[in-house]
Amino acid sequence: MPPGPGHIGRGFLTEEEKQNKPKITGALLKRIFSYLLPYWKQLALVLVCIVISSVFTLMPSILTGRIIDDGLIGRSMPALVRLILLSLAVTLAANLIGVAESYLNSWIAQHITFDMRNQMFRHLQEMSQRFFTSNNQGDIITRMTSDIDGVQMVITNTFTSILSNTITLIVALIAMFRKNWILALVGIVIVPLFTIPTRAAGKTRWTLTREAQACNDEINGILNETMSVSGQTLVKLFNREEYEYGRYESANRRMIALNIKEGMAGRWFRVIISTFSSIGPMLLYLVGGILMMRYDSTLTVGDITVLVALLGRMYGPVNQLLNIQVEWIRAMAMFTRIFEYYDMEPEIKNPKHGVTSRNADGTKGSVEFRNVDFYYEPERQILKNVSFRLESGRSVAIVGPSGSGKSTMINLIPRLYDVTGGEVLFDDIDVRKLDLHFLRDHIGVVTQDTYLFNGTIRENLLYVKPEASEEELIDALRKANVYDFIEKQEKGLDTVVGNRGLKLSGGEKQRISIARVLLKNPSLLIFDEATSALDSISEAKIQAAIDPLVNSRTSILIAHRLSTILAADEILVLKDGQIVERGVHKDLVALGGVYTELYNTQFKVMPDEAGEEKTGEKEETEKSKE
Ligand code: ATP
Repeated sequence: MPPGPGHIGRGFLTEEEKQNKPKITGALLKRIFSYLLPYWKQLALVLVCIVISSVFTLMPSILTGRIIDDGLIGRSMPALVRLILLSLAVTLAANLIGVAESYLNSWIAQHITFDMRNQMFRHLQEMSQRFFTSNNQGDIITRMTSDIDGVQMVITNTFTSILSNTITLIVALIAMFRKNWILALVGIVIVPLFTIPTRAAGKTRWTLTREAQACNDEINGILNETMSVSGQTLVKLFNREEYEYGRYESANRRMIALNIKEGMAGRWFRVIISTFSSIGPMLLYLVGGILMMRYDSTLTVGDITVLVALLGRMYGPVNQLLNIQVEWIRAMAMFTRIFEYYDMEPEIKNPKHGVTSRNADGTKGSVEFRNVDFYYEPERQILKNVSFRLESGRSVAIVGPSGSGKSTMINLIPRLYDVTGGEVLFDDIDVRKLDLHFLRDHIGVVTQDTYLFNGTIRENLLYVKPEASEEELIDALRKANVYDFIEKQEKGLDTVVGNRGLKLSGGEKQRISIARVLLKNPSLLIFDEATSALDSISEAKIQAAIDPLVNSRTSILIAHRLSTILAADEILVLKDGQIVERGVHKDLVALGGVYTELYNTQFKVMPDEAGEEKTGEKEETEKSKE
């Protein structure tokens, strides 16, 4: 079959693809091959199917010669019936084998992509925080979905297409040469000669289609911008109606011209295809006729018919093989992109023989920072020479202006990032020497930006402790001071929290996440207080939830509220990544430094809440007495 319009677009590379052509090396091919290797038996079977079905598909064309010569011209009814039946049987067999081949093929492709997807998921789970903060989520998802889907396409289409087309061509050529070498040579010259102009026409049409698409995008862009409420407000307030109309009109005008050109190119494309694909057979008939009548009396009508039929069968494979180069480059680019991800080394690795516990009586959760330096990017130091020790059972509040590095400090403890200088110790052991799962098991973090999965409250809690009983869940929620709220919900624990917990208020979310941490029962509690203002009732509820927690275990609190600060045994004041002041509230306020300023601008309670502040101060005095 000659190349149809459906082939347009697949056969040409875009400028971008041309520029990012992958380097096809032996190592890359070997690596791709390693994914195919586990399925070599099925692949071998596919290969056999392809060979048989390619040969069988050509058989009817070859048999046509004998139908004409032996059956029709020879006037033999039995030969005619036999050959027709044979032809039908071969066609049926070819199709049945084709079905088997498709099944096997998609089975293999699905299994290979299944393996690749799982491998990718596991690998990405091991990637560190930096990977997720510095890579676009969309890119990650594209690699997990479209790129791996692409692999499936490559296996089901590209690889098999190369094989079956090559085999078809070889078989067709052999059959042609066996019939008549001169006519076979004519065929060899004709096929590429006629495929090339078709491709050239296809390319022109493809370019026009792309231009029209770009123009269409532009028009949609203008519509999106101007037809929105805010867009229209802007247009109206700045009197830009004429300008916008002009922009729209000119894009629209370009679009008309392109659409007409594209339509006509499509028409010409079809003319070229049908002309060229009918000139081929005519030429063969002509040359065949001359040979038969003038030079070679052994050449039969049947032979010429076979040659013409085989010629017709060659356009498709030749065209597809010419396209293959492009598909091949695309496939290699896709594999390269996927392998690039596989090759990224996780920054934070679990040490081979990680320590799990130093203390026979369990972990205590003490934390020490020894001259810790840290940067996300080398050119910008975030933490500078930070040292402090938090004994087990005690608590420390970290305060400081926004961006001073508070969250960064706590990220270093569960090893979301590793220090760039100095060391962080948990239970007096460098966190890098501890088994990563053990370390993270013993740390409970309530983050500023509470993350809840889209599911029920129960599912969110069970995520951290699947075996927890109903009583345990309720107990944790009670302690987190959120059970009252849940009880009031019609569905109770089975209330759906909505996407990322959006159906809940900030305070409710944070209290649920406190309950989640309570279920985990960690030795060290890290509480990153939300900066966003909560009303005083929510705040009091959160406070009531964390106070007993802080008192019962080692805790680090990133504090934005005075009440939280006062709950801690020591306050560290961070500024530009350095601890500039440390001590208890009273002394720090008296110091007249960074803390005093923070206190005056952020923590100081409004006059009508002064009662609370007093209570706070009393607590603090009691603590300092201890
Ligand atoms: P806030 O009180 O506003 O939460 P913070 O004291 O907790 O602030 P950090 O979140 O630790 O501050 O950020 C410290 C600095 O590090 C900021 O200047 C921030 O821009 C930078 N930073 C934070 N995360 C990253 C990251 N993933 N990559 C690069 N820089 C970062």
